[in-house]
Amino acid sequence: MRRLTKPKVYLVSRPSVDWDKVARLLADEGLPDIPESIRAGEDESAAIVEVSARLCYMSFGRGRKHIEDFIENLLSKGDGSVFEHVNYGFVITGVSRSLTHELVRHRAGFAYSQRSQRFVDESDSPFVVPPAIEEGSPEYAILRDALEKAARSYQELVDALEESIPGQLDLNEDGGGQGVFTTKWDRRKAIRQAARAVLPNATETKIFVTANVRAWRHFIEMRGAAFADWEIRRLALDILEMLQGEAPLLFGDFTIEELPDGTRTATPTHSKV
Ligand SMILES: Cc1cc2nc3c(=O)[nH]c(=O)nc-3n(C[C@H](O)[C@H](O)[C@H](O)COP(=O)(O)OP(=O)(O)OC[C@H]3O[C@@H](n4cnc5c(N)ncnc54)[C@H](O)[C@@H]3O)c2cc1C
Repeated sequence: MRRLTKPKVYLVSRPSVDWDKVARLLADEGLPDIPESIRAGEDESAAIVEVSARLCYMSFGRGRKHIEDFIENLLSKGDGSVFEHVNYGFVITGVSRSLTHELVRHRAGFAYSQRSQRFVDESDSPFVVPPAIEEGSPEYAILRDALEKAARSYQELVDALEESIPGQLDLNEDGGGQGVFTTKWDRRKAIRQAARAVLPNATETKIFVTANVRAWRHFIEMRGAAFADWEIRRLALDILEMLQGEAPLLFGDFTIEELPDGTRTATPTHSKV
């Protein structure tokens, strides 16, 4: 039985600005050139927020001189919609189905693509050990026994369904009609979708998640809190650290703290912008 204890998080998409087009817009509108202050180093994420916020008031070249002040003012006022222009996409592997069930509850501003248990054979899938269970502990032995049993049951069900589901399955209750399996994949899907009933929450899954900064901030606030499940909390912290590196002005107000149990939490200064 293969087991995993940590997620892998890959940042696969990030925002970028076409500065030539921004310059042309400003010239076309007879506005001042892009101030250097908007281009705060490599952090183009914050520049996107500033350009979109300034468009609302056509305030290019006026007001706050530093992008840090500008962003801080938006966060403190809760002007969250301009943070929706900045998107980051992650591929996440080595997480459990229980984690992703919680993750996909986050709706606003999120897009998901997840490995399918109907299409993909789960016979050899690893299991994710919850952070609270230490390898070698009595709890681990209970978990391992249950997971091994589930893996065996899955394989037994797949084998049994291979025999019991006919190659030509009738749609109609009266036995008439045409077979529904038009390709060999349809039949495999029917077998796997039934056999997955015995797969545990600990089964590993892989998911591609894209969200905008407003949505990521809300996710990290909810799932980085002490009362969140440890596995998703650890993921929220991993994502926060990556996003703080990518977009320090947009995620810099989160404080990371270590709890006595060794787990960590994240708390923003500006809640739910
Ligand atoms: C510690 C913890 C325990 C939880 N326990 C449970 C549980 O026992 N059972 C359970 O079912 N869920 C549980 N949840 C999930 C929780 O109820 C939310 O579904 C999840 O956290 C997503 O939050 P959200 O709706 O704010 O996020 P999103 O769906 O991303 O929405 C973000 C914000 O947009 C607004 N919004 C989004 N959709 C709508 C809408 N349709 N109408 C109006 N406003 C909207 C809201 O302001 C919302 O806060 C738990 C969450 C946490 C963090």
